Amino acid sequence: MSSDVRFTDFKSDEQPTWCPGCGDFGTMNGMMKALANTGNDPDNTFVVAGIGCSGKIGTYMHSYALHGVHGRALPVGIGVKLANPNLEVMVAGGDGDGYSIGAGHFIHAVRRNVDMTYVVMNNRIYGLTKGQASPTSREDFETSTTPDGPKQPPVNPLALALAGGGSFIAQSFSSDSQRHTEIVKEAIEHDGFGFVNVYSPCVTFNDVDTYDYFRDAIVDLEDTDHDPTDYDDAKSKILDADKEYQGVLYKSENSVPFDEREGLTDSMADIPDGAPDDAMDLVRE
Ligand code: SF4
Ligand code: MG
Repeated sequence: MSSDVRFTDFKSDEQPTWCPGCGDFGTMNGMMKALANTGNDPDNTFVVAGIGCSGKIGTYMHSYALHGVHGRALPVGIGVKLANPNLEVMVAGGDGDGYSIGAGHFIHAVRRNVDMTYVVMNNRIYGLTKGQASPTSREDFETSTTPDGPKQPPVNPLALALAGGGSFIAQSFSSDSQRHTEIVKEAIEHDGFGFVNVYSPCVTFNDVDTYDYFRDAIVDLEDTDHDPTDYDDAKSKILDADKEYQGVLYKSENSVPFDEREGLTDSMADIPDGAPDDAMDLVRE
């Protein structure tokens, strides 16, 4: 790790093909700043991306990276971290990737509590496939495939995480650069699975959950007397469907990361004889 890393060191030479104004730009910038502000550098950082517009992030960031199979980025990230605990592992994806096809992995990653960070760019729509309802779309959100709306309540990812025994549950807004960066930084520093659901607007296909909507609706927990270590307080806010909170909703004071719980050590980085060299180089220091 280097102490003089700038966040721009995490930028790759690839030009993002995201639509101008896409929330994913702000989400990614905050991730890069949070990584730099926690003393990480591209040589010790491994980004695993899902599938979707958000999944392109592994190409746009300069670090070790792997583009996972749809919905399967989390188990890949867990494998990387357990193979080499010295790496800073960030998994990034969208609401379709993480809360639909990847929902099963999400629940189990939360309860396994491996020391890593999961950032979900939640735009409440499938953007890459041109605008279908996602698991977090509103009940009455009209799209080409749901002309009268999905007619089912949206998934509440924070509630899923809390019910699954999550040890760090937070939410941010990609356009609030300072707070988003602070919140991701806190997730990185958390001793366990740091989960951040990021409101990251899709400017092309979602004309309901817009920047203006979130600017008006968001209540920042820093402006309240919220105590993230108070489980009941966290639960009541997480289940309050009428509010869009920003901040750390829940943070367990008793989080024990999976590797400590299981007595795993750095020796996990020793690769056994016969393992395929090319693949194992990805997770070696
Ligand atoms: Fe972003 Fe939406 Fe464009 Fe995808 S379609 S890049 S989510 S604005
Ligand atoms: Mg989406």
